[in-house]
Amino acid sequence: MKKIERHSGRGELFIVSAPSGAGKTTICRKLMKIVPRLKHSVSYTTRAPREGEVNNVHYTFISEKKFKSMIARGEFAEWAVVHGNLYGTSVKRLKELNSKGYDIILDVDTQGAAQMRRVFREAVFIFILPPSMRILEKRLRSRMSESEAEVKIRLERAMGEILNYKNYDYIIINDDLKKAVKEMVSIITAGRLRTSRVNSPIIKNINSKGG
Ligand code: ADP
Ligand code: 5GP
Repeated sequence: MKKIERHSGRGELFIVSAPSGAGKTTICRKLMKIVPRLKHSVSYTTRAPREGEVNNVHYTFISEKKFKSMIARGEFAEWAVVHGNLYGTSVKRLKELNSKGYDIILDVDTQGAAQMRRVFREAVFIFILPPSMRILEKRLRSRMSESEAEVKIRLERAMGEILNYKNYDYIIINDDLKKAVKEMVSIITAGRLRTSRVNSPIIKNINSKGG
């Protein structure tokens, strides 16, 4: 993908939610590889790492005690209890990525997205849906990362999460993975091309002449 103009200094924030198993992690990991200047903000969580997950890469895995002390110190931009575990977005990490000129992609549940909507009104909110509930169940089971009891919790919660889709700016139906990734790239490109974001020399020139 070709680089587009540098942003205006305020990084774009892309907030992605989906019911567990819809393919959000798969899509976001692919995006990270192909979209320049886009970084995932690594969340903190109290859940145990899955096989293959690396501390500080996929999540920062911490104890409930440490998580609660971070809440008390106001270190989270948002946090929520999801499937019985705590998850949160660090204010410090958002600021660091922004100051380095990155656009940020956040993978948060619908509670976290609602909190972010109140603070970051200009953020772009994207909801990923599975093609059907049957396929969602199949994907969750095929991932084989949760116990049967955990799969049940996630499926029970899925419909509640899906009902929030109307609060998002864009919906992607993750049927074909390649198509879903392409659509995400289109949304990110459009977000970066918003008038308030583009900061090319010609715009600066026009502004300096126009006063
Ligand atoms: P989430 O992060 O939303 O919980 P994952 O990205 O872990 O979901 O995806 C759940 C499972 O579905 C994984 O095994 C993944 O490889 C698979 N998957 C994701 N997208 C697709 C797709 N478009 N078609 C088929 N399988 C998919
Ligand atoms: P998983 O355990 O499958 O990685 O994620 C479970 C859920 O937690 C997903 O819906 C994911 O979007 C959400 N999640 C991950 N990180 C955060 C976070 O920092 N804040 C909130 N609110 N939810 C998160």
